[in-house]
Amino acid sequence: MTRSEALFTRAVECIPGGVNSPVRAFGAIGEPPRFIEKADGAYIYDADGNAYIDFIGSWGPMILGHNHPKVLESVLEAAKSGLSFGAATEREVIMAELICQIVPSIEMVRMVNSGTEAVMSAVRTARGYTGRNKIVKFMGCYHGHSDAMLVKAGSGVMAQGIPDSAGVPSGCTEDTLSAVYNDLESVEALFRAHPDEIAAVIVEPVGANMGVVPPKKGFLEGLRSLCTEYGALLIFDEVITGFRLALDGAQGYFGIRPDLTTFGKIIGGGMPVGAYGGRREIMSMVAPAGPVYQAGTLSGNPVAMAAGITQLTILKESPELYQKLNEIGDWFYSEIEKILEEAGAGCRVNHIGSLGCVFFTQEPVVNYASAKTADVGRYREYFKYMLNHGIYLAPAQFEAMFLSAAHTKADLENTLDVIQAYARKHK
Ligand SMILES: *Cc1c(COP(=O)(O)O)cnc(C)c1O
Repeated sequence: MTRSEALFTRAVECIPGGVNSPVRAFGAIGEPPRFIEKADGAYIYDADGNAYIDFIGSWGPMILGHNHPKVLESVLEAAKSGLSFGAATEREVIMAELICQIVPSIEMVRMVNSGTEAVMSAVRTARGYTGRNKIVKFMGCYHGHSDAMLVKAGSGVMAQGIPDSAGVPSGCTEDTLSAVYNDLESVEALFRAHPDEIAAVIVEPVGANMGVVPPKKGFLEGLRSLCTEYGALLIFDEVITGFRLALDGAQGYFGIRPDLTTFGKIIGGGMPVGAYGGRREIMSMVAPAGPVYQAGTLSGNPVAMAAGITQLTILKESPELYQKLNEIGDWFYSEIEKILEEAGAGCRVNHIGSLGCVFFTQEPVVNYASAKTADVGRYREYFKYMLNHGIYLAPAQFEAMFLSAAHTKADLENTLDVIQAYARKHK
């Protein structure tokens, strides 16, 4: 038995499913998960001493690679002055100023501890501000695990085939309306049916929890005008795309101004951080400035802020980083596509910037329904082959691949060689 297997055997006795977040269990893959001991740069190492090129990067946060020396140093430095005060600190002001500088649509921002919390709070704020209750979300988009958002969600919910979660009363989701990604007509129909009831449309500006599904030309622009026309707020859930597609996120990349934005993942540099922000007038609704209640004992935690400030500052000071990351992404994912196409593997490779996904389907993947045509059995086979050859991919079809600044051309070429070998074997 490997150490990972032994640890998993112990874990399932005392942690539900042996993990603290479902996708980590490798449930869609039918293998015990690898327990990770450490990581450095583009590599992670499991408890049995195996090294892997990491294409998860903690699901996005590690955009600079693991163990960036400056991020690490700032965390150690902050920790020496105390781990938590439950009181206001200078770092929170620096962090808020930094986010407002980087993202033009954000005039005020509130820190929380996860993407889930950021979305939950942004939705409450939108409802408080508009005095309306209904929220439009898209099938296959994942917005964390709060009750109202667990309707046709993507990510782990999708891989497990659980349409909704047990324990969510129908009252909690009766105001959640589902639309079809990349289909403006489906959104317009909801607005026509509920003209004065929709508080907000929430969207992943690039779908990254049903595999990777970029927006079609005009889709985000159309959402912007529909929201304006009907007096609803547009919420961009940039928990994945924020500080990744561009420094100012998908909204900068596509040139769209949402009313509210949610962040997570990259914003904390690997520490548990989320944030939501937007126009001053809207954010002034949040307590104690306004009547929308939201709080957090550990929100704005000094050690977490130190990591986030350092990572965001490095990103802000290296504008060439995004150009490089997006160029290398274009090259890498196009090479994967070429290899699989030449082998007649019957795949679709979607990508944008450093995000990509290999779908085992012949259909173009543009929304939840087309993503679901992917053959998860073939993904499982591909995943196992890659894992056994030192490549650590997401253990489920409906997740993204994440590139970081630490992936060298050689790392990516080695990865392409493994994909080439896989494609030859599985013609
Ligand atoms: C990961 C994710 C979330 C949830 O963030 P957590 O930190 O896991 O709670 C919300 N929205 C999107 C788009 C995500 O990818």
